[in-house]
Amino acid sequence: MRAPTLRAAGLVTVVLAGLLGSAFVLGRSLVPDPHPSAAGVATTLTGPRYGEQPPSTDFPSGTTSPRPSPDAAPDAAPVPPDGDGPYGAQVATGSSRVALTFDDGPDPRWTPQVLALLAQYGVRATFCVVGENVEAHPDLVRSIVAEGHTLCNHSWNHDVNLGKRSPATIRADLLRTNDAILAAAPGARIAYYRQPGGAWTPSVMSACADLNLAPLHWSVDPSDWKAPGATTIEAMVRSQMGPGAIVLMHDAGGDRSGTVSALQQLLPELLARFELEPLPVGSP
Ligand SMILES: [Zn+2]
Repeated sequence: MRAPTLRAAGLVTVVLAGLLGSAFVLGRSLVPDPHPSAAGVATTLTGPRYGEQPPSTDFPSGTTSPRPSPDAAPDAAPVPPDGDGPYGAQVATGSSRVALTFDDGPDPRWTPQVLALLAQYGVRATFCVVGENVEAHPDLVRSIVAEGHTLCNHSWNHDVNLGKRSPATIRADLLRTNDAILAAAPGARIAYYRQPGGAWTPSVMSACADLNLAPLHWSVDPSDWKAPGATTIEAMVRSQMGPGAIVLMHDAGGDRSGTVSALQQLLPELLARFELEPLPVGSP
């Protein structure tokens, strides 16, 4: 072969080798990890947070449903880079003030501890409550309201797949939860909805709009539902905090001693850096 042909052949070989190499790497990345975590929970703790949400069968829709368990139905989503959250859900307070939000309660063990700490520091926050827990502990809902905190609808039984269900099912779920809240605390303002797992869908957004509930996401997620320990929760909040932050924490769904302990440490620190607010609910 003449020299140019040889060069061309060489080039083709190099390009082919490169393509094959890429395909090999790509192929490897498509092969499942041969050593996945042994337990489903362990996978959830380390794997992608959206992808590892439990299937809907964990929380069948309908009137008979198990209690939400901490790790089976986490609130977890990547912190949005900036601006609006998924499908335009709210991720910032809209001012320099910051908001603490507590999800999945009320819980007879942990909610009173969180309420006591907030009262001790004169901080009001937002509680995203689960309907069946509201029904089981209406006294705690009344305490939340009486102490000036904001309420947020967090679905009836923490169905992370609620957004994939029919518009009628979604609407009924949110209404049922609102009704339970109002039965517990007549006249309470319910201005927000937070989708379990942060798994927003256009259908959920439509239901929120119909029911005049502001979709509430978050910007700071210390993943306290994984119970990583108070020190880790504190460090994650410190590193992610900024003006306008909405912080996601949990006062139910498992052992929340780490969250309570972290809160004890964080409240004075945050008060020194920010003004804390319950999310506004407008006029009754
Ligand atoms: Zn939740």
